[in-house]
Amino acid sequence: MALKVIKERCTGCGLCVQVCPYNAIKLSDENVAEILESCILCGQCIEACPMKAILMEEKHGEEATGYRGVMVFVEHEFGRINHVSFELLGKGRELADKLMVPLCAMVMGDGAKDMAKEVGAYDVDEICVVDAPHLREYQTNPYVREAENIINEYRPEIVLIGATTLGRDFAGALATRLETGLTADCTGLDIDLEKRLLLQTRPAFGGNIMATILCPYKRPQMSTVRPKVMPMPEKVTKDGAHIIEIEPISTPKDLLLSILDFIKDTAGTVNLADADIIVSGGRGIKGPENFKMLFELAQVLGGAVGASRAAVDSGWIPYAHQVGQTGRTVRPKLYIACGISGAIQHLAGMQTSDIIVAINKDPEAPIFKVANYGIVGDLFKVVPEIIRQVKERKAKSAVS
Ligand SMILES: Cc1cc2nc3c(=O)[nH]c(=O)nc-3n(C[C@H](O)[C@H](O)[C@H](O)COP(=O)(O)OP(=O)(O)OC[C@H]3O[C@@H](n4cnc5c(N)ncnc54)[C@H](O)[C@@H]3O)c2cc1C
Repeated sequence: MALKVIKERCTGCGLCVQVCPYNAIKLSDENVAEILESCILCGQCIEACPMKAILMEEKHGEEATGYRGVMVFVEHEFGRINHVSFELLGKGRELADKLMVPLCAMVMGDGAKDMAKEVGAYDVDEICVVDAPHLREYQTNPYVREAENIINEYRPEIVLIGATTLGRDFAGALATRLETGLTADCTGLDIDLEKRLLLQTRPAFGGNIMATILCPYKRPQMSTVRPKVMPMPEKVTKDGAHIIEIEPISTPKDLLLSILDFIKDTAGTVNLADADIIVSGGRGIKGPENFKMLFELAQVLGGAVGASRAAVDSGWIPYAHQVGQTGRTVRPKLYIACGISGAIQHLAGMQTSDIIVAINKDPEAPIFKVANYGIVGDLFKVVPEIIRQVKERKAKSAVS
């Protein structure tokens, strides 16, 4: 897309210059509006022009043709593939089937060939592999160079990346290099078959609306998706995927950092993403000391402790425990919300849990709308009672 000024219509009134927040228009010596390179195509000048002298020109198809297929970036750390990559392979399969195109994965790393075998256990058609010792740990520069090379060669129309810390760094840099659009933190992906466009849905305006974002003129269409938003796909037993071995184009000289050591982030030891059971506390828990009760319940159930932002912002529990739009997205088998009202931003991070139990003294609390089981009552009575009963049952089953 580009802005075009119809010189014959422009009267040089300068209104477009005044409204442009980016100083991207000036009046030329001939007193005609001239669009500068800093233009971001926001379109405010189009609306401001009383003479309709500025138009948005659409370069139909030119940059969007010649791209075919769906590609998933396979993320790994310490030789372990992140489960979000498998979740994206599941979603990618669905999108590729709708478009009737192949699903491809790109794996780069030291030992990438072995990781490709693991990826091949899922329903994927092709796997592009770059295996090189200097790619053992993720670093933006070499990884983006390799991905750019693969994408320029195989030209997928869609690229999916996990919205993890690593994925967010990688996706932004890659989209910039490819000069294409990127929709971050999608919670839904679908296809507009008529236009062959990726429908990228994500919360916007503080989670108050769900926006569906399109990337009609650039390719590939790129999205990041948070872990646990998409379901895990089943493994398949069909013939393996076609492995394409690619020579690395980056070298150790592309490593801009030397990694001396990995120090475990103790705040990050909360394994919310992998927990099957999460007991979460909100403002209703009233103070940091009362989280002890939730840790006890989580411990007897074999789960982890989550929290609402209100509890985190109050300094009652570290951020690593926060569930929601600006915290972790979780998808446990059981989510127990204690003293959490159920604000939309909290629901955004937990509503796809298999079973939701809400404990709240307010029968009108919105959390009950998503809960499978609701307990209207004082959590300071309900939670200790649940702990007591679970312990009692465990003791009985240990005896029998
Ligand atoms: C841009 C943005 C991003 C956000 N991101 C997040 C996010 O990631 N995660 C998140 O959680 N929030 C997020 N929020 C904040 C969100 O809007 C809510 O403010 C927050 O979730 C409220 O937390 P809460 O439910 O613990 O507190 P409250 O809304 O105050 O609810 C407390 C609940 O506890 C109940 N209660 C009180 N005492 C008891 C008792 N003794 N027994 C039982 N129940 C009791 C009350 O009835 C009430 O329902 C975000 C907000 C914005 C604007």
